[in-house]
Amino acid sequence: MKGFCERYGFYPNKGVADSGYGSEENYEFMEENRIEPFVKYNYFHKEEKKAFKNNAFLAQNLYYNQKEDYFVCPIGQHMKKVGDTTRTTDSGYVSKISIYQAENCNGCPLRCLCHKSKTNRRMEVNHNLNRHKQKVRELLTSPEGLFHRSQRPIEPEAVFGQTKYDKAYIRFRHVGGEKVKADFALFATAFNIGKLYRRINKRIEKEQENQQNDKKWLLNTFIAIVIFLSFQKTKNRVTSNQNLTLYSAA
Ligand code: SF4
Repeated sequence: MKGFCERYGFYPNKGVADSGYGSEENYEFMEENRIEPFVKYNYFHKEEKKAFKNNAFLAQNLYYNQKEDYFVCPIGQHMKKVGDTTRTTDSGYVSKISIYQAENCNGCPLRCLCHKSKTNRRMEVNHNLNRHKQKVRELLTSPEGLFHRSQRPIEPEAVFGQTKYDKAYIRFRHVGGEKVKADFALFATAFNIGKLYRRINKRIEKEQENQQNDKKWLLNTFIAIVIFLSFQKTKNRVTSNQNLTLYSAA
């Protein structure tokens, strides 16, 4: 996105990418720059599955009371907030995580299904990420989201396939940032020229085919007119001969 902005001077208003890019950091970046995020997150497809939806023990499926800030565990116990922590990504982005804990799991008949901890169940929740996920879920399941999801495997994935398997470009031939950049730039230029050539060739072939079809159509029409006229002529001749015979008989 930053590369796009450096080149064109603005950010696109929509971002389409696979789940590898569905992080809180990226969602925040897109929100700050007013980019609609058509970007899946991990578990996007898993969430749609029956087994996931019906699993009452998953943190994602527990009831959350936003006003009083507590979750309700499967047996009905409140899991209150016991603290906050942070996680820092390799790029330096800091996520705020809230920690919730059940009050007493001792003697709970569902414990073996609920958690394996020796203490009361604790869970970490990233509310900001959940907020982004909710927004992304709505976008991805909208008609526009379905369209982008159907196009995504066709547009970029096909290029990856052609690059890696058809052209066997699986590793860079040079070492060092600048050289690798040049290596890939050359490959991408050649790739695009090849694509352009095939596209132009295809268009020329199509035009030639259309011209051939036009010629065929003209020839067929001409033959049909000639046959029709000959038929009419023969018919007129037979009719006039019949009339002559009738007059002679009279
Ligand atoms: S084990 Fe604890 S958290 Fe799980 S259902 Fe029982 S009381 Fe609730």
